[in-house]
Amino acid sequence: MPKKIVNGKVAEVFRSIQGEGIYVGIPQVFVRMYGCQLGCSFCDTLLEKYDIFSPQRLLKEISFLANGIDSLAITGGEPLEQVEFLKFFLPLAKENNFKIYLETNGINYKGLKELLEFIDIIAMDIKLPSSTQRKAFWREHQRFLEVASEKNLFVKMVICLATEEQDLRKAVSLLKEKKIPLILQPNTFELNKLGEKLEKFQMLCKDYLEEVRIIPQMQRLLGWR
Ligand code: SF4
Repeated sequence: MPKKIVNGKVAEVFRSIQGEGIYVGIPQVFVRMYGCQLGCSFCDTLLEKYDIFSPQRLLKEISFLANGIDSLAITGGEPLEQVEFLKFFLPLAKENNFKIYLETNGINYKGLKELLEFIDIIAMDIKLPSSTQRKAFWREHQRFLEVASEKNLFVKMVICLATEEQDLRKAVSLLKEKKIPLILQPNTFELNKLGEKLEKFQMLCKDYLEEVRIIPQMQRLLGWR
């Protein structure tokens, strides 16, 4: 018997320019999935509303916006909190020639495994507990990296005034593959106060990794969505 189609909770679908990480500046359609359990201190995507989308309806919506884009960004909230929906939607998007760019908090490695074949690029966060003011997820991040490193992957860490060096060292020690690009992203709300700290942290990471860049959230600076 065919599996019953699962619908998704989607907060927004829009077209814009990628503002974070190593693909900054490329045109994308964004699917912002609703919901995230984590509650990071610096979260700027606290979503209040969503609409229910079937996989077919979402495909139709993104297809209207897709002319000339590089890829489809599946973001949130946390997309990997809706794996059952994405198991229907991502194959459909791939059949229609979309390149899939997944933005994730890097915790649900089991969910990632189930979707991996449909994903092209993974923008993975490592959540430093002194930044998020939440518990640590070192074991989950380690497993996630093991699964994600099969794909085109980069890692992002948000740096705040409260971020501790020991967290940064621990996070870098998880990155066994030295070629994985690492982005240090300053907390937008503290942007002007983080210059020195970012430079120091970059040098510290450069002792272990080949590519470490400091990139702020360009969408906030340039007024992109
Ligand atoms: S993981 Fe992302 S969406 Fe979830 S609370 Fe943290 S910053 Fe917000």
